[in-house]
Amino acid sequence: MGNTEGHAGPPDAQAQTVDVIVIGGGAAGLAAASMAATCGRSVVLLEKDREPGGSTSWSVGSVSATATPHQFRAGILDNPQDHWEDIQKFSAPHPHPDNPELGRILAEGSPDMFAWLLSAGIDFVGPMPEPPHRRPRMHNVLPNSRAFAYRLGKLCRKQGVRILTDTRADALILDQDRATGVRTSGVAGVQTWLARGGIVLAGGDYSASKELKTRFASPEAAMADPVNPLATGEGIRLGLEAGGEVLNGDYVRGPFLRFVPPARAGLLARLPAWRIVTRLMRWGYENLAPALLRPVMMKFLTTTLAPDAGLFREGSALVDRDGGLIEGARVNPHLAAARAPGGLGYIVMDQRIATQFRQWPHFISTAPGVAYAYLDDYRRTRGDIYFTAPTLEELARRLGMDPGRFVASVATHNAQLASDPRTASLQLTRAPFFSLGPAKAYVVFTNGGLRVSTRLEVLRPDGSIIPGLYAAGSNGQGGQLLEGHGHHLGWAFVSGRVAGRNAAMQSTR
Ligand SMILES: Cc1cc2nc3c(=O)[nH]c(=O)nc-3n(C[C@H](O)[C@H](O)[C@H](O)COP(=O)(O)OP(=O)(O)OC[C@H]3O[C@@H](n4cnc5c(N)ncnc54)[C@H](O)[C@@H]3O)c2cc1C
Repeated sequence: MGNTEGHAGPPDAQAQTVDVIVIGGGAAGLAAASMAATCGRSVVLLEKDREPGGSTSWSVGSVSATATPHQFRAGILDNPQDHWEDIQKFSAPHPHPDNPELGRILAEGSPDMFAWLLSAGIDFVGPMPEPPHRRPRMHNVLPNSRAFAYRLGKLCRKQGVRILTDTRADALILDQDRATGVRTSGVAGVQTWLARGGIVLAGGDYSASKELKTRFASPEAAMADPVNPLATGEGIRLGLEAGGEVLNGDYVRGPFLRFVPPARAGLLARLPAWRIVTRLMRWGYENLAPALLRPVMMKFLTTTLAPDAGLFREGSALVDRDGGLIEGARVNPHLAAARAPGGLGYIVMDQRIATQFRQWPHFISTAPGVAYAYLDDYRRTRGDIYFTAPTLEELARRLGMDPGRFVASVATHNAQLASDPRTASLQLTRAPFFSLGPAKAYVVFTNGGLRVSTRLEVLRPDGSIIPGLYAAGSNGQGGQLLEGHGHHLGWAFVSGRVAGRNAAMQSTR
């Protein structure tokens, strides 16, 4: 029997052997590593970045789950069967097929998964309603989504998992058709790791891979920048090279317009998820008036927020970074911005719109912790993307745009609105004027995942198992849509735990 692998030569004599190898340190990888360690196996987790986190740390941090202590405290009686049925309601109108078999694993695994997150010291507020969920199930992490990697990284290390950061998995080693090891490169040079048990692919999605987006999705998706530039889909590539296949590869979340993140996260957003911080936040959430709470909660945000389409319905214009009008924003601001230079757009409002978007039901964006963020939240917390001026010319100057071009764009926008009696009253005429931007058309994430069994084994197109190889999270999405909020993270944690346990069970001494 000879060893083969995707890229490099045969494994070297220095190869190190463990029971389980996990590729990727996001939600799925950390869950897999922790579970394999709980089973008493030796585990190495390979993370190409400086620290674990991946898209998990970019996320809003909503996790949907049932039978949680939070639901119990709120007097909500809920169960996985109802959750599973409601997941089908989310996916029914969708043009892509779903995978209800894996959806059942998600729903049934959620109560234990949530209890495990709590036991690791991760705290949440909620649950919040989100129809067609029949009961509130959405829980939002405190203080922000970096808490997952912070707490689970600590837990894994305590359990003896070797977390190797700055270490990239480059190729799988295949012995006949069985995955037996991984070739890595990074700070420690080129290394070979062999697994007595299984190898778990948990390398995240391919929103940052032009090549995979071109192959599976669309030219628009390929063109648009990702939110997470490290989401290059290497786990998917490794799975394909081993003989796996991708399901729902063309289903991409985006391009979607989102405000660019601040150049540097504020002090509060950089605070680790210390218990004192999360307890204070939870206390504030449960006891303080929203007006006092919201400026603080907004400062903890690490994710990028999406401007609501209602802004454009109410008459806002979208201009490019040179002050030129971006056409079509009323119909689809996301695609319109995706075609603009750099995918960048600035939202322009007048006093009428600004007044509307200071309170419910007109919000600038949804935001974790405060549910909805209004114009004044942006004024207080995002001075870098909030602009106002008494005239359009002055606003253009503050935005660094040519005033002549900017004023002409607003005039064209107003003329377009005036040409239709239904929109004539929406023209931008009342001073002062406002702008929020830049917002950028990002691919938030891709939904194509490897075909997997209910044990999270990677499958070939004919349905046969690739022995030794498991996939979790985005890598093991397996044709699920995961519609609604909080199902992607839920799946990453649940599937990671299932894959970690099964990969561990493969290892005997
Ligand atoms: C802006 C944004 C908001 C979101 N909000 C939510 C939300 O609120 N709720 C929700 O449910 N979902 C949300 N999602 C989706 C969710 O974050 C992801 O689906 C989930 O985090 C995927 O977890 P993962 O472990 O599969 O991948 P990741 O968290 O991306 O982890 C993959 C890890 O693998 C590493 N890696 C990749 N290749 C290699 C390699 N070759 N070698 C070693 N390491 C490698 C990466 O560096 C990364 O750390 C959001 C996503 C984004 C971008």
